Amino acid sequence: MSQRILEPGQIETLAQRSIPRIRLPARESLFVQRAARLRALAPTSRIADYLHLCAAIADAQHAALAGCAPTMPSAAELAAAREHRMPPIPATDWPRKPPWRNALETICTAVAAQPGFPPEVARLAERVAAAAAAQLEAQADVLLGTREGAVDAAAAPLLVAALQVHGVAASSRLAAGEVAPLDVPGVCPLCGSLPVASVVRAQAQYQGYRYLHCALCACEWHLVRVQCSQCGASGKDIAYRSLSGEDDADDAPADAALRAETCDACHRYRKILYQEKDTAIEPVADDLASLALDLLLADAGYARASGNPLLWAADEA
Ligand code: FE
Ligand code: FE
Repeated sequence: MSQRILEPGQIETLAQRSIPRIRLPARESLFVQRAARLRALAPTSRIADYLHLCAAIADAQHAALAGCAPTMPSAAELAAAREHRMPPIPATDWPRKPPWRNALETICTAVAAQPGFPPEVARLAERVAAAAAAQLEAQADVLLGTREGAVDAAAAPLLVAALQVHGVAASSRLAAGEVAPLDVPGVCPLCGSLPVASVVRAQAQYQGYRYLHCALCACEWHLVRVQCSQCGASGKDIAYRSLSGEDDADDAPADAALRAETCDACHRYRKILYQEKDTAIEPVADDLASLALDLLLADAGYARASGNPLLWAADEA
C-alpha cells in the first residue's frame, strides 16, 4: 500500500484549516463562572480574602455587562481589520466613554455595598466612584499602556474590571468568523491586549487545542502547543513546571490542571491550564489563585510574560 508523505508545511496547512482559530466569550456566563471559580479556589489559597473580593467584583461585572452597549465596528471596518491583520477593536484607542464609566459606577456601587469586607474596601470603591472623570480617563490610559504615569495600585482592579466589562461587551457581540488571527501570535487579535494565560480546551470542537486568553476582552486565540507565547521559541527551550514538581512533556502532563510553560530563550513564562484535568478552570481566576507558582518561577529566574490585570504591585508604574 502506498502512502502519500506530507511535507511539514502541508501538514501545518491541513491542520490549521480544521482548527477553530478564535473563541469568543459568552456574555451570560463568563463573569458568573469566574466568580464561582474564585470562590471555589479561595479556601485553599493564601490570598483567600482577595479572591473573595475579586469574586464580588466579578458578580458586579456580570451585572454591569447587561447594561453596557459599546461602540461597535461597522462591517466595513471589520473587513478592513481582517484584511490588514489588525485588531478590529483596539483597546488602546477604541472609544470607551461613556459605557465603561457607567460600568465602573455599577461595579463601585456594588462593591461598596458588599458586606463582609474590611471598611477600606467600601472606602476605596467610594473614592473611585467619586473621582473626577478626567482622572479616571487618565488612569485608564495608564493601565492600558497609552500614557506614562504611576498606577494607582489599589484602584486598578476596579478600573480594570470596568475595562474588562467594556471589552467583553464588545467581544461577545462579534462572531468568531469576524475576527482573524494576527501575524503576532502573543497579542489578542480582537483588542490587541496581552493574554493572562493559556488554556488547553476539552470541549468537542476545541479538544486538545491550546488557546491564549485575553486578559481584557476574554477572546481566545489558537496557538500551537509547546511554543513560547512570548518569543515564539519551541522545542528544547520549553519546559513545564507545576507546584507538584517539574515535568517536561506537554503531551503527557502530570495530574496538575495548571502549570507554567517556561521558555529558556526569553526566560519568561505563562501559565497553561488543562480543562480535561478540571472542567471548572477559568484563566483569570486560576491564575490569581496560583500565586505560589509565580513565586516558585521567580525563584527559578523566570519572569511573567504579562501580568494579571486584577493584581497590581504598588511599585508598578
Ligand atoms: Fe482582547
Ligand atoms: Fe520565549
